[in-house]
Amino acid sequence: MTQPTEIERLIEMMAKLPGLGPRSARRAVLHLVARREGQLAPLARQMQQVADTARACVRCGNIGTAELCPICADGRRANGQICVVETVADLWAMERAGVFRGRYHVLGGTLSALDAVGPEELRIPDLIGRIAEEEVSEVILALPATVDGQTTAHYIADRLEDRVTLTSLAQGVPIGGELDFLDDGTITAALNARKPL
Ligand code: ZN
Repeated sequence: MTQPTEIERLIEMMAKLPGLGPRSARRAVLHLVARREGQLAPLARQMQQVADTARACVRCGNIGTAELCPICADGRRANGQICVVETVADLWAMERAGVFRGRYHVLGGTLSALDAVGPEELRIPDLIGRIAEEEVSEVILALPATVDGQTTAHYIADRLEDRVTLTSLAQGVPIGGELDFLDDGTITAALNARKPL
């Protein structure tokens, strides 16, 4: 192989992205290098801009470019409901479905005895703080149907049960299914058929 080092390094970095791999990374890089002005340069500029500005919303943990994400900044989303999700990808999946009109709280993981993830490692204390500060009437737990996901749901429910109505997504959600992999119709059905915890 006599490829220039810079291009090889770009391929190696791209190959680490989810859903890619060495073969797809090579194809993507060749595609981009062949379209340097039209695609590669704008992509590089956009990546730099995101690298400079991306940050977590101080309230919900969503990724945005301001202190508050667009959902938290939108007063119409303050309807008393908070939907608790594991990841930002799950939040975005709920948003794509377009049925939920409240706000979110991203935990950043689930409790795991095996991996020594406790409540302090997640954004659970922040969630409990929000219940006190905002006028929250319902917390919808949209956590994975895995052992860790359900352990986390029960932990949160134990701490909030006297203070808000707690519901969870109906199990149209496959076991271990992450929201990001579900189609919008399934998410909509699971939200509409949510049940008290
Ligand atoms: Zn937010």
